[in-house]
Amino acid sequence: MTPSTSTTRPDRSTPSTPPPRTREEAGGADPTVVDMAVVGAGPCGIAAGAAARRAGLSTVLVDRGPLCASVVDYPWYMSFFSTPEKLEVEGLPFVTAEKNATRREALAYYRRVAEYFELPVRLHETVEAVEGREGDFRLRTRRDSGREDEIRARRIVLAIGGFHRPNLLDVPGEDLPKVSHWYGEAHPYWKKDVLVVGGSNSAVEASLELFRTGARVTMVHFGSDFDPGVKPWVLPDIRNRLEKGEIRMFWHHRVARIEAEEVVLREEDSGQTRTLANDRVLALTGWRPDPKLLRSLGVPVDPDTGVPEHDPETFETPIPGVHIAGVLAAGYDANRIFIENGRWHGRAIARAILADSGQAAPAGN
Ligand SMILES: Cc1cc2nc3c(=O)[nH]c(=O)nc-3n(C[C@H](O)[C@H](O)[C@H](O)COP(=O)(O)OP(=O)(O)OC[C@H]3O[C@@H](n4cnc5c(N)ncnc54)[C@H](O)[C@@H]3O)c2cc1C
Repeated sequence: MTPSTSTTRPDRSTPSTPPPRTREEAGGADPTVVDMAVVGAGPCGIAAGAAARRAGLSTVLVDRGPLCASVVDYPWYMSFFSTPEKLEVEGLPFVTAEKNATRREALAYYRRVAEYFELPVRLHETVEAVEGREGDFRLRTRRDSGREDEIRARRIVLAIGGFHRPNLLDVPGEDLPKVSHWYGEAHPYWKKDVLVVGGSNSAVEASLELFRTGARVTMVHFGSDFDPGVKPWVLPDIRNRLEKGEIRMFWHHRVARIEAEEVVLREEDSGQTRTLANDRVLALTGWRPDPKLLRSLGVPVDPDTGVPEHDPETFETPIPGVHIAGVLAAGYDANRIFIENGRWHGRAIARAILADSGQAAPAGN
């Protein structure tokens, strides 16, 4: 991933005093309808909620998982490549023990952000559909318990990411329990024959960790080299492991079939297959956003890039009152928008909402 140039702004503003009272709290509007409902409580959804609070807008965040569900499922011992100040929300300082934040530190920080900005967060509650129009949206939700509910909002912000919707290999055997599309830690793979599918950062870092933990690692990638987004400081390590034969690599191959104790790979050009002993498959082949909510609202999505149509200034889609935020705005290219730049989307949205209602943005916004 490369840091953004266009939308990243230095964030050294002093943290705000606790958020101003909203119109509802001040007794001026229907308290059952929020100004801005945010679907998705990942880092960028949280930033959108914090921006709304700072702007004096009422908000609610709804997530089908825990807070920062994607980060929860990142490799357990990973460190962010961004330095902590680039992950900060609305100027609330993020202090870490080392130069880069660990996953646990980031989770603690975003919990603190939600507390500091007094964000009303509804977790383990899926937004299944959105009905209505600007000024009167109804979000149909279902909690993990099965209970259905409705949230009413004047505007909605979809910050739904996509991390939990992997690009499937679409091959027989992918549904076997030994196949996973996420990687947590290496220990369970010790002494196992592991196939890592993909050529991205995730695949490279997992392969190195697995190798160092004592797994027998084979990688397979349809390309002839690693993805350009692989961290430059990791490349020499992985290349040395391949050169020494410590990690086996099949370039120009794809997985053809997965069986209980084997995998079958197919060479791209010749179609020739080879069968390898295998205990576990890690298919780290990226993911793409779920178009269901966007589609139900009628938001056009570019079929090639997966980018939902939106105004780059206000992040409003052609459907009035429907905004997008965070990595969702990058479509299929998650390397284009990440926390560093996606954390500013909410501020732009809050500013646009205030401007539409003829109010000035608070200082610093
Ligand atoms: C290993 C790894 C390391 C990374 N390191 C960095 C880094 O150093 N710096 C950086 O800037 N970025 C980094 N990124 C990228 C960054 O984490 C993502 O860009 C970021 O999580 C995007 O935030 P988001 O809020 O847009 O989406 P997400 O974090 O994916 O949040 C989306 C949320 O929406 C919820 N959701 C989805 N559908 C629904 C629904 N229908 N109803 C309710 N909730 C729903 C999900 O449960 C999820 O919690 C890294 C990513 C990975 C995988």
